[in-house]
Amino acid sequence: MIKVNENYLKLEKNYLFIRIAEKVKAFQAADPEAKLIRMGIGDVTLPLAPVVVEAMQNAAAEMGVKETFRGYEDSGAGYDFLREAVAGYYRSFGADVPAEDIRINDGAKSDCGNLVDIFGDDNIVLVTDPAYPVYVDSNLMSGRKIVYADSNEANGFAAMPSADGYALDGKQVFPDIIYLCSPNNPTGSVYTKAQLAEWIAYAKAHGAVILFDAAYEAFVSQPELPRSIYQIEGAKEVAIEMCSLSKTAGFTGVRCGYTVVPSELKATASDGTEVSLKQLWNRREGSKFNGVSYPVQRAAEAVFTPEGQKQIRENIAYYQENARIMAETLTELGIAFTGGINSPYIWFKCPDNMDSWSFFDRMLSEIAVVGTPGAGFGKNGDGWFRLTAFGDRDNTKEAMQRLKKMMKA
Ligand code: PLP
Repeated sequence: MIKVNENYLKLEKNYLFIRIAEKVKAFQAADPEAKLIRMGIGDVTLPLAPVVVEAMQNAAAEMGVKETFRGYEDSGAGYDFLREAVAGYYRSFGADVPAEDIRINDGAKSDCGNLVDIFGDDNIVLVTDPAYPVYVDSNLMSGRKIVYADSNEANGFAAMPSADGYALDGKQVFPDIIYLCSPNNPTGSVYTKAQLAEWIAYAKAHGAVILFDAAYEAFVSQPELPRSIYQIEGAKEVAIEMCSLSKTAGFTGVRCGYTVVPSELKATASDGTEVSLKQLWNRREGSKFNGVSYPVQRAAEAVFTPEGQKQIRENIAYYQENARIMAETLTELGIAFTGGINSPYIWFKCPDNMDSWSFFDRMLSEIAVVGTPGAGFGKNGDGWFRLTAFGDRDNTKEAMQRLKKMMKA
């Protein structure tokens, strides 16, 4: 008889965006004429940069010629040309990451979920709350216990480690696996170098590993803020980093990202032997992943050329200007918010002490603007709301006009 993974039955039934989609569908059925503006799902709207398209087309053409056709890539870790390009990109902002520690993948979400395969199910996981839901779900699926570090208004939505540990089953415990995301989804907050140094010291003191999600690093505009955890001393001994071209270069539909597992990162097996996490990860990937397509890797390589950087920066600047317009509106309305400067997300406090789903309903029914209720990202998200800057400029302006009207009414 089949035995299912019962951990799946413990997962939240209604995934956040499904619930939003259902509400939007009902609204549109009731009012088909309403001009809906979507600022909910964090997907990009600008097309790929021309150099990226050209590189993909050229690579596709190579695949149609016997002499240049490519089948499986030998290692599945990514072609050297792309791993070297990513290493060069890291160097450009002061992180020394060797190409051999980088693996190319089909986007950060896969590895956010897959990395947990190399860790025992009895590890305690720490997730900052609110958080990108994949961290919680992928650990619940393996039956791991999770503790939460509160990100809230008081700490600027940048939770710091607790010296006393975290309460779990009536005891104070210290985590073995720590998820950090900076710039943060959903809150837009960014850790400073000093704050990351504190997390690194904490991980070292408690023998923990940090899984650092840098999917939004390209939006950091203040040079003193870190874009990679490897800009901080000692990170290679404790941290794995996941990154993606989805938001950096509009690859949400192309699918390409990269994960760094440093050679320095070690764990101890139950018999006392030292184990290289990079070797475990390579072993896992060797068995379960056959690499990213050649045209996509050539397209990704083009992102890191000088012309590619120039072109993607134009798109990022467009989204940053959207974020600025949103931040300006919230400031004018006297609404507290985080994000927007170094992040494509604006995270604001729901006016009139509304809970976030009620505010979602109000925005949808009164001004036909769709956002994301903060409660969908964890308990500290309730009473807060996320808007994305990835939309069209005119729609962003229109949505802010409507919000002003609603708030002043
Ligand atoms: N990490 C964070 C924090 C995200 O918000 C996202 C996507 O929205 C991802 C990772 C995954 O992105 P992708 O799989 O498209 O690379």
